[in-house]
Amino acid sequence: MIDVNGRRYALPRAPIVVVCVDGCEPDYLDRAVEGGAMPWLGSARAGGTSLVGDCVMPSFTNPNNLSIVTGAPPSVHGISGNYFWDPQAGVEVMMNDPKYLRAETILARLAGAGAAVAVVTAKDKLRRLLGHGMTNGICFSSEKANETTEAEHGLADALAFVGRPLPSVYSADLSEFVFAAGVRLMETRRPDVMYLSTTDYVQHKHAPGTPAADAFYRMMDGYLERLDALGATIALTADHGMNAKTDAAGRPQVVYLQDVLDAWLGAGRARVILPITDPYVVHHGALGSFATVYLPAEARVEDALARLDRLPGMEAVLDRKEACRRFELPEDRIGDVVVVSERHTVVGTSAARHDLSGLDAPLRSHGGLSEQRVPVVLNRRTRLDPGARVRNFDAFDLALNRVA
Ligand code: ZN
Ligand code: ZN
Repeated sequence: MIDVNGRRYALPRAPIVVVCVDGCEPDYLDRAVEGGAMPWLGSARAGGTSLVGDCVMPSFTNPNNLSIVTGAPPSVHGISGNYFWDPQAGVEVMMNDPKYLRAETILARLAGAGAAVAVVTAKDKLRRLLGHGMTNGICFSSEKANETTEAEHGLADALAFVGRPLPSVYSADLSEFVFAAGVRLMETRRPDVMYLSTTDYVQHKHAPGTPAADAFYRMMDGYLERLDALGATIALTADHGMNAKTDAAGRPQVVYLQDVLDAWLGAGRARVILPITDPYVVHHGALGSFATVYLPAEARVEDALARLDRLPGMEAVLDRKEACRRFELPEDRIGDVVVVSERHTVVGTSAARHDLSGLDAPLRSHGGLSEQRVPVVLNRRTRLDPGARVRNFDAFDLALNRVA
């Protein structure tokens, strides 16, 4: 057994594969199974475990991937967004650097205990966080599969190993490469533990049940079937869901918080941080349903809460303490106020700072409570505590400790 962040995990006796399908609103699976695009998943759910659980807030990629691999909420691992305001350094920065990580990962501890561990992620931004502390094993991204070395990634020339062309960072292929690499690794190296993490490029553009979404899930189903045939225990979950963020006419429904606060408090007095921000914003324009706001010293938090709460499309407007209590967030990385918008509304900074010209489909995004429901599926029956809340970060616990 190993003890990680206050939870105990058994060492694997047979290979386990934890899959994080980025942006997998539960409806994608239901519609794909109903439409015949996921025959393997349909039977795996029937014979195994099929649940809907909660992801952590904010419902963004980095906090949730780190929750899954640490088995803990952001208050423990410290990754509060893809992006944050670092008050000590006085800068807004991406949270891609392991120096922001405050907890050990299950992956590193399993590798340290002698398990063969392999991690494949679509975007390179997650690679160093996911692989942090792994002194042995394999960890690389599809995005930079052409740059891997034995010394840094545990596998030389991943591109040749997988035998597929290098995918574009804005493509479904970027995720397919992850699955293809997973199957190839299982066929040739048979790791004890594998973590596969995709990108939500398809989900930002295509709603559940649409031909493009079903084609993506059909692709995925084929690879999962092969991993299953190779004897792997598969635990599939998601980092967050996904919803249309548009009005009846299909136009983005945006509340530009910086513009609102500038009008109240004076230009640039408050600082709006959008933790969805990352280097790849073409498909969502950096618009999501969660923001945190740093107020100027003279502003009263209660006044700001009351005024923000009256804006259209707000689901929750909370002060730092309440937001951190309710969402298990680290208080030193959250502003004075947290704003969560409702299902079909996103929050932005200033209208002038969001480039929506790259949106070639009606806006779909995430970040809010409305994207907190995620699938938790295993191809094995599991022993669950009756009535317990299931979280995406229970995936390793389920696969390692609870297979019946
Ligand atoms: Zn994501
Ligand atoms: Zn996304």
